[in-house]
This record gives sequence, C-alpha cells and structure tokens, in this order.
Amino acid sequence: MRKPIIAGNWKMNKTVKKAVEFVKEMVETMNDCPDMEIVVFPPFTALHAVANVVRDTNILFGAQNMYYESAGAYTGEISPLMLADIGVHFVILGHSERREILGETNEIINLKMKAALNYRMKPILCVGEKLEEREKGKAEDVIHSQLVRNLQDISKDEMARTVIAYEPLWAIGTGKTASPEDANKMHAFIRGTIISLYDKRVASMVRIQYGGSVRPDNIGILMAQPEIDGALVGGASLDVESFVKIARYTL
Ligand code: PEP
Repeated sequence: MRKPIIAGNWKMNKTVKKAVEFVKEMVETMNDCPDMEIVVFPPFTALHAVANVVRDTNILFGAQNMYYESAGAYTGEISPLMLADIGVHFVILGHSERREILGETNEIINLKMKAALNYRMKPILCVGEKLEEREKGKAEDVIHSQLVRNLQDISKDEMARTVIAYEPLWAIGTGKTASPEDANKMHAFIRGTIISLYDKRVASMVRIQYGGSVRPDNIGILMAQPEIDGALVGGASLDVESFVKIARYTL
C-alpha cells in the first residue's frame, strides 16, 4: 500500500515570517492527520526557519530545486550537501517552470536526481506535456522520453524512494484540471514505463502525484483514482485553510 503524499509548492512566495506562521498553523491543525505524508516546499530563504518549526512533527519539508555539485564556484546555487545539512527530506526536480523558464535540460535534471539520491533525499520528479503535444497525440511519447532521460543510471533502490509528479503544463496555474480519468490513464502509463525500466516490485512502490490546479473541491475525486497517490499543489497551497482542506481530503 502506497502512503498518500500531499505536497505544497510555494514557488517564489512568502517571507520567512509568513512561512513560519503558515507551518505553525499546519502543525497545530494536522497533528491528528491520518497515515499520510504532508510536505511543504518553502523558498530557500525560509527553509531553515521552517525546519526549526516542523522538527519532530508530522509535517515534512523540502526544497524547490538544488544544484548537482556538493560545493564550489557556482554563484547563486544551493547544493544537496547544504540541504541535507538542515534536514531537508524532499526536493522537487524538473518542475516545468525550471524546464521552460530557466532552461533546465533532461540531462541536468538527471544529474540533479543522482545528487539528491546520493544525499538520501527523496526527489519529486516532475514530468508533463504541453497542450500542443497533447493535441498532436504525443503526450505519452513526451512523458516516456522525460522518464527515460531523467532516470538514467538511477538504481532500483533509488527509484523506489523517488516520487513522480505528473503535471500537464496546460493545467498548471490555469484553473484547468486534467479529468480524473485522463490523469489516472497517464499515471498508469507512467507506472507501466517504470515496470519496463525497472520491475513490477519497484513500480508498485513509486508514488505518483498529480499536479495542475488541484483545489479543495477536486482533490477527493482525483485521489479516488487507483493510480493517483497524491497531489503536488501550487496556488491552492499558499493559503493555509485551503491547503489543510486538501490534506484532509479523506475526512
Ligand atoms: C505546480 O506548479 O506544481 C502546480 C501544480 O501549480 P498549480 O496547483 O497552481 O496549478
């Protein structure tokens, strides 16, 4: 049985003060939460302060990105060593905003995957197709190619610790959600690809989140799909009340 994982990607939002207020409220409201993982992804500036609030609670935290080298002359970058040093559990890699706006290639994402796993962090690897790719019937080819290239030289054990987020680009921040059936179909395709790259045992352990305009009013129907193991939430994770409602979708 895969543990559900609900994650909030705050992107370039929240000061340290706002981030700390948010997680304090989460810790209080979610202390009775069922058997699931709830992860917040603050900006780098707030990571350490958030780490201090959530230590020894059931709220986990992660980074939105990282570089693949441990240290050195890489002005402006943050290394996996630095993240591990403050107890970061998860790191989002390959988000479409980094692929599209910041020019991250599949090869760079693969280097980051290997570095994160070496430092025992769990990557959330984002994959997703553009609207024109879906309209041309190429969505599965795009996802397959991203998976093959991003997961190159990742071992079975490492793969079992990896989370995949299926985030169709046309659904991110647009208010348009993939239908639960379409999302489930793509998740099944992703799991099938993991079976072909690894094996059934590994594929059965990998959690696959859906991301793209997830809100309190659609989380239930998405999570009811057998292949959807969680959600990566952007906009609706910025407000604590809305994120708590999403995390409490079962109640
Ligand atoms: C995201 O950017 O990962 C995301 C899913 O955003 P939103 O929920 O705002 O569509």
